[in-house]
Amino acid sequence: MKINGIPVREVEENYVNIHPIQAAGRLTAEAMKALIAYGDGYSTCDQCRKPFRLDKITKPPIAEFHSDLAKFLNMDEARATPGARRAFQAVCLSLAEKGDIVLVSALAHYTEFLAVENARAAVKEVPLNKDNVVTGDAVAQKIEEVTREEGKKPALVMLDHFDYSFANEHDIAGAAKAAHQYDVPILYNGAYTVGIKPVDGKALGVDFVVGSGHKSMASPAPSGVLATTSEYADQVLRTTQMIGDVTGRKFGIKEVEMLGCTLMGANLLAMMASFPTIQRRINDWQEYVAKSNIVIDAILDIKGNKCLSEHPRKHTLTKVDTTGSFDTVATTHKRRGFFFSDELKQRGVVGEFAGATRTWKLNTYGLTWDQTSYVADVFKEIAEKYDLL
Ligand SMILES: *Cc1c(COP(=O)(O)O)cnc(C)c1O
Repeated sequence: MKINGIPVREVEENYVNIHPIQAAGRLTAEAMKALIAYGDGYSTCDQCRKPFRLDKITKPPIAEFHSDLAKFLNMDEARATPGARRAFQAVCLSLAEKGDIVLVSALAHYTEFLAVENARAAVKEVPLNKDNVVTGDAVAQKIEEVTREEGKKPALVMLDHFDYSFANEHDIAGAAKAAHQYDVPILYNGAYTVGIKPVDGKALGVDFVVGSGHKSMASPAPSGVLATTSEYADQVLRTTQMIGDVTGRKFGIKEVEMLGCTLMGANLLAMMASFPTIQRRINDWQEYVAKSNIVIDAILDIKGNKCLSEHPRKHTLTKVDTTGSFDTVATTHKRRGFFFSDELKQRGVVGEFAGATRTWKLNTYGLTWDQTSYVADVFKEIAEKYDLL
């Protein structure tokens, strides 16, 4: 089936998808309906009334959604944003000036680097310990080092709770304590947590919580969330002060970093439509972690395989090393590394990086118990076929 030459995507209908970045962004049925119902351009603006700001609209209940989002993350204020990256950007542009240093983790996502660069500041990386984890002590040490070298402390610390590479858990609470000891604000990057596991910004002691709608909140791209405390809201959510010199025009309470109106239209409404599911599903997190461990243990039962992430797993995203098993087959197979994707696909499993048989990532988020044992069996079955067990 095609729409004006565009093939219909049917990955989620036809396969079990273990793609590292797709698993928790998969839409709910409600989000799909909202996409259709609010697909027209400025669809959310039917009942936009003074003071004319998208996040203040009450019909549909966009204002309520924003206050629910803040409560959900236990923060004071929240805005829907076009992705986590736009939230990083808003914070960096508000807190960092040209030449400032922003501390990120040695496993930081590229969008954190770019948000800092966009603000004309520079990143410095907090090194990992031997277990590939960022500790509070490492953050404190790096703040001291930067302050010594630059003559001023960093403008901001941005830290991923679970990084995109290994999905190891980093010590956010420890980092927040360290950052605040030096009076440096800290941003919690919850791209891989907000929407799948409970996140309590105040308990963690952070100044900003950022989530990705399309990564972890069953929402379309782009979508995301920026939450903050009343302390930082005035700065990051500051309203426009501009006055037109010819016309004298002013634009009231439009927020500068949000460029007036935040996440618009169908993306916002789909995010709202998925929200009840999100609120419910975070309580099932431990179940999904248990399923992740079942699949990883099956992979580790195959001779030569290694888990490069922390083990046992605390997350559903995992990096594995199959150089000692599947890759030995790839070296002589006529399809090379693609033999592995072929074998998986034939069994209805997709999402591993096609052709990769050395180190690769999988995300088991959202699998049912049946799918969990099925996927675990599929890896063993392929190993058996090639005499790897
Ligand atoms: C995916 C990801 C991002 C980017 O999120 P977007 O919503 O696509 O901007 C940022 N940080 C981490 C750790 C991620 O995994």
